[in-house]
Amino acid sequence: MESQAAEQGRVVIVGAGQAGIVVAESLRGGGYAGQIVIMCDEGVAPYHRPPLSKAWLAGELARGQLLMRSPEAFQRKGIDLRIGVKVVDINAVSRQVEMADGNTLAYDILVIATGASPRVLNLPGVKAQGVHVLRSIDDAESIADSLGFCATHDLPVVVIGGGFIGLEVASTARMKGLRVTVLEAASRLLGRVLAPVLSDWYADLHRSHGVSLMLGARPKSIDIGAEGRVQAVTLEDGSQVLAGMVVLGVGVIANDGLAKAAGLTCDAGIVVDDAGRTSYSGIYAAGDCTVRYLSDGTPLRLESVQGATEQARCVASTVLGKPREVACAPWFWSDQYDKKLQIAGLSHGANRWVVHGDMFEESFSVEHYCDDQLLAIDTINSAKEHLAARKRLEAELQNR
Ligand SMILES: Cc1cc2nc3c(=O)[nH]c(=O)nc-3n(C[C@H](O)[C@H](O)[C@H](O)COP(=O)(O)OP(=O)(O)OC[C@H]3O[C@@H](n4cnc5c(N)ncnc54)[C@H](O)[C@@H]3O)c2cc1C
Repeated sequence: MESQAAEQGRVVIVGAGQAGIVVAESLRGGGYAGQIVIMCDEGVAPYHRPPLSKAWLAGELARGQLLMRSPEAFQRKGIDLRIGVKVVDINAVSRQVEMADGNTLAYDILVIATGASPRVLNLPGVKAQGVHVLRSIDDAESIADSLGFCATHDLPVVVIGGGFIGLEVASTARMKGLRVTVLEAASRLLGRVLAPVLSDWYADLHRSHGVSLMLGARPKSIDIGAEGRVQAVTLEDGSQVLAGMVVLGVGVIANDGLAKAAGLTCDAGIVVDDAGRTSYSGIYAAGDCTVRYLSDGTPLRLESVQGATEQARCVASTVLGKPREVACAPWFWSDQYDKKLQIAGLSHGANRWVVHGDMFEESFSVEHYCDDQLLAIDTINSAKEHLAARKRLEAELQNR
């Protein structure tokens, strides 16, 4: 089945984000000669998301610089990119997808690469003007407008959630001179991924840049002022934080609705094996919409450019009849102020951490261990050490 598809037939890819584009290009690069159609519900050419909370929001990049490829590049590769087209149904039995306009398209191979959507807190007032999530270029443009509004009216920015996206927006807003409060419900920042010592370091970093950081802060409502615009956030303890705008950075939910409705196995994400196969023959999935299980049964959802890229390459290889499994150590980065964090590996299950270097200096690293086993290495401002960490972790993986 898989090698048959390598020679002929139509591959339909739903979603033109990092995963969808890499699947298409890897198929062509690997010699796939059949038709490749990518459909994306966003009305813009495929673009890079990471700069939306960083350089683009800071005004250092123009919109055009976000583009992944020029439209001609897709044409040259014979990739039929259809933007502004939403897939609303998958019929896995008759092997066709249905679009929002009622048209259908048959496929031989289907790849679901629908990404994820920002989680929205169920709070009174959450729909007020000036309350934002951040996933798309449209979201980012609305945030940029609200930052301008806050600057003009000297109003503070409130970020709910001390995860990567929230903290990157906080850092960008501070660099623009705005007053910023970050509300984090947990007792430390980035608690799911960072060592406690690095969470404390990030708290100090933000406070030293003038962010008002409130840990253990649980919002109860978003209060609406004149003309339907947000004016404050009330916390569960009754205190109020003034807000000219609010950014919700409280995680994402995998876009697995289409797959679920089509009868594919899902578990807060489309369940795939290491080669990107779903529970249904001929249907693959890659990127933020997926979940796979580690050897100890832990579900793993990566939300990263590298995770999407690696998985997409595995899907393409499998479709080309050369199944390969995710091989390299996952890695991720985050830019806040003048600090670049790079994470190699997965810190889940760590019970011991070792700091190398001086945390008061420009660069240092933190190793995550479970007993004696090295799981992950976080580096600050040291690309060289990060690359060495990846090699070290990959060597460890191969020896296990
Ligand atoms: C602000 C921001 C900053 C980030 N920073 C970093 C970073 O520093 N480092 C890092 O590694 N990662 C970062 N990420 C995460 C990274 O961008 C994602 O992990 C990556 O984009 C996932 O790619 P994807 O293709 O799985 O999903 P997406 O890029 O979300 O693409 C999915 C596409 O499918 C479309 N789609 C969904 N449903 C349908 C449908 N029914 N029909 C048609 N199209 C559909 C969506 O609209 C979307 O365009 C960041 C993300 C954001 C939002």
